[in-house]
Amino acid sequence: MNQEKAMNHLKDNGYQVTKQRKDIINFFEKANGYRTARDLIDFMEKHYENVSFDTIYRNLHLFNELNILEKTILQGEKHFRMSCTDEHHHHFICNDCGKTKEIYFCPMNYVAASLDKYAIEDHKFEVYGLCPTCKSA
Ligand SMILES: [Zn+2]
Ligand SMILES: [Zn+2]
Ligand SMILES: [Zn+2]
Repeated sequence: MNQEKAMNHLKDNGYQVTKQRKDIINFFEKANGYRTARDLIDFMEKHYENVSFDTIYRNLHLFNELNILEKTILQGEKHFRMSCTDEHHHHFICNDCGKTKEIYFCPMNYVAASLDKYAIEDHKFEVYGLCPTCKSA
């Protein structure tokens, strides 16, 4: 997902592309990794006089519903990033800077063998640690 696709996706679903929505998407596009609502609010407060936490949370929820943003829980807190729309993959997530690296390997083929009589509906697989930059810092 990039900014242009996200804007079109909003319009296609009947949502207005406001300056604030653009800025939020811009923030996540530049971030290139997971960020919290708090990170976004800190950023927005530099650009707007009155930042409504309600509006921010509602937009984060909306973007997640529309698959513009992906959501995960890290250290007990919700984190968001721009959605990936290409082929199925998983993520390595840096515990320090939130950067992600795509892993084009899915362990489900192995897991499915242990779930013979079960119907698998979804799965989540994430690896956490330190990216090379944070590791050498
Ligand atoms: Zn991805
Ligand atoms: Zn890092
Ligand atoms: Zn998978």
